[in-house]
Amino acid sequence: MTIQMVDLVTQYKKLKPEIDAAVSKVLESGQFILGKDVAEFESAAARYVGVKHAIGCASGTDALQIAIMALGLKPGDEIITTPFTFFATAEAAALIGIIPVFVDISEKTYNMRADLIEAAITSKTKAIMPVHLFGQPADLDEILDIARRRHLFVIEDNAQAMGALYHGKKAGSFGDLSCTSFFPSKNLGAYGDAGMIMTNDAVLAENARMIAQHGSRVRYKHELLGVNSRLDTIQAAILNVKLNYLDHWNAARQRNAALYNKMLDAEGIVKPFVAQERSHIYHQYSIRVGRRDALQEHLRAKGIPSAIHYPIPLHRQEAFGKIPGFVERNKSFPVAEHIAKEIISLPMHPELSEEQITFIAETVSRFYA
Ligand SMILES: *Cc1c(COP(=O)(O)O)cnc(C)c1O
Repeated sequence: MTIQMVDLVTQYKKLKPEIDAAVSKVLESGQFILGKDVAEFESAAARYVGVKHAIGCASGTDALQIAIMALGLKPGDEIITTPFTFFATAEAAALIGIIPVFVDISEKTYNMRADLIEAAITSKTKAIMPVHLFGQPADLDEILDIARRRHLFVIEDNAQAMGALYHGKKAGSFGDLSCTSFFPSKNLGAYGDAGMIMTNDAVLAENARMIAQHGSRVRYKHELLGVNSRLDTIQAAILNVKLNYLDHWNAARQRNAALYNKMLDAEGIVKPFVAQERSHIYHQYSIRVGRRDALQEHLRAKGIPSAIHYPIPLHRQEAFGKIPGFVERNKSFPVAEHIAKEIISLPMHPELSEEQITFIAETVSRFYA
């Protein structure tokens, strides 16, 4: 029994006729930049999430940077976000001179704590950037309420939660803008890098679209400084096929998580907690344990892969220590630091079998028995 963290090959083999036909069509069309496939996927993704506008781009990281640029944020402005996320969330801001300011996370959901946001707001704060970590929406009601009262923008980092619900609406449809990633291992993954910006605001949509294409609406006329970040046409054709399966795959992840929850049985294992009024789509199935590194070693010896999401909270990342204005205000985030030492992600993908999950859960449980 070979177990993988993510099994992209099995998934491709199931979809091979459809995917190959979609890719061939692009190759035969000669249209490799933008075109019909990109436009179709943008409409389909917007419809799926329930937003008016979707703009494809080259990666989730680019989507974040373009979203920040579309809001017109300037160097020295601050964005409040979580220290417990993938590096790109804050990197995208810092790269263009925006200072990431962190607040600590919930010990239960690992998402940013809304009740700590107001104390972190200064005259330079322009936006709040919640991350729907591991596939579970952050506390959007509370975050949107603060944003409204304090006149801040909200950018959702929805890279891990395509299809997750909050009060029955899709994550990614709440903020002024939302950003997602189609990195191959994400719940909706391309066969290469790809990303997307979503919004209900026509002006922000227009800005984002311009910025993603060198600040240009009309060829060779540049109104803004932008970037070259387009959604690749072949990737769009692949994503057009895969989007039809997303709900089915997310449901499989939820069934797999339920089976892990049932089978993991030992004192001291903290299983994922799902807060009220939202669904979790388990981009990762992450548990907290004692002796985490020893468990990981034990799993490796049994042929079970695992991963640490994330071993170093962002305020401890050397890269951010080099940003002027950063260090003194981003001191200590005890919950994020504590959880970084205990968290471990087990294999999670729609193709996992009941037998595999049972084997993994039993191996973990026995380690603590
Ligand atoms: C994957 C991810 C990103 C970056 O997406 P890329 O497509 O890899 O650039 C950003 N934020 C979060 C939370 C992610 O998980």
